[in-house]
Amino acid sequence: ETRDHDYDLLIGTGVSNQFASELQSLGITAKTKILLITDHHVAPYYLEPVKKVLSEFQLFEYIVQAGESAKSLEQVDSIITYMIQHGFDRTSYILALGGGVIGDLSGFVASIYMRGIRFIQCPTTILAHDSSIGGKVGINHPLGKNLIGAFHQPSFILYDTQFLKTLPAKEIRSGLAEVVKHGLIADSSFTHWLNQHAESLLNLDFEALNEALYQGSRIKATIVKEDEKEQGIRAYLNFGHTLAHAIETVSHYDYSHGEAVAIGMVFATRLSERIGYISRKIEDYYLKLIERFQLPTSIPKAYNTEEILQILMRDKKFKQSQIRMVLPIEIGKVMIVEGIEIDLLRKIIEEMKA
Ligand code: NAD
Ligand code: ZN
Repeated sequence: ETRDHDYDLLIGTGVSNQFASELQSLGITAKTKILLITDHHVAPYYLEPVKKVLSEFQLFEYIVQAGESAKSLEQVDSIITYMIQHGFDRTSYILALGGGVIGDLSGFVASIYMRGIRFIQCPTTILAHDSSIGGKVGINHPLGKNLIGAFHQPSFILYDTQFLKTLPAKEIRSGLAEVVKHGLIADSSFTHWLNQHAESLLNLDFEALNEALYQGSRIKATIVKEDEKEQGIRAYLNFGHTLAHAIETVSHYDYSHGEAVAIGMVFATRLSERIGYISRKIEDYYLKLIERFQLPTSIPKAYNTEEILQILMRDKKFKQSQIRMVLPIEIGKVMIVEGIEIDLLRKIIEEMKA
């Protein structure tokens, strides 16, 4: 439920069978133009199957290069040019078929094309259980990630977990990092469940996966519903992200988003233990949980600490030499802590390089 409109998320193995009837129930007809946007990794697997189930609709397709670099103003410009040339109007739809990159890019185009048209998400990564919900859409600027964007809620999300079976192992781990994040910020019993199911999730056991993605989505949706425009608790979703964005930038995206978030969650957890909010025992529990998902927990020695701090300082969460961060306070619970000193951040970054 959002201020603008409510929307459904349909999740399960094989649910793309229902795609056409779901679109019909949104009022989409054979006359509605739909621009399917995907990337060149996803297209060979899923473009034809999706076109087949949606064959009764007026589908156009636009394939971008896979990777974070697709979230650029140049890419937005090319898609908009295509849409104008092909007569897309305010009744048209965009359908994002892909991971978080495609969702963020497509949703951003939808948010500005003719002052906003509707869009549908068809996520194909685990991470997209997070990125497809909540309406944050946007692109990157050469000086930083996600600096250009909007709030624009999708009309519908169809999440066929069958589509996940072609995901590279790195993307599986990366996506699971955000599932872990959802447990850690909101639900201790889900956190313990994750601890027990790491192996089946890494092996893409569908039963476990559907449960994990359902729980992760539920937590995300609940938070977004309460605080759509991020004035309060939605900030909890940024757990691990302050450092993550800096790591992504410094690594030139060698670290995937989820891997960077894993490092960021370890960082926030250590910080919390040092300040005295959590015990060493909880710190260890979190560290082991993240390791169990085969995610990175340290910072490469080669990364320059001062450069990382510089990027953190450019972040909007910074005031003078202090930062505001989301820190764990017990298992499955976090809070926003103001006034964390930069010297402490520096110290922990150094420790994590060990
Ligand atoms: P991604 O979209 O780049 O996908 C990762 C890689 O997997 C790409 O190479 C892609 O081509 C490939 N891929 C996708 N689906 C596949 C499949 N089914 N089979 C084989 N290969 C497949 O990245 P992501 O990790 O899904 O998303 C990361 C992006 O999401 C970041 O840009 C991040 O900022 C954004 N994000 C946004 C939000 C939000 O609320 N809007 C939340 C979290 C992350
Ligand atoms: Zn994230």
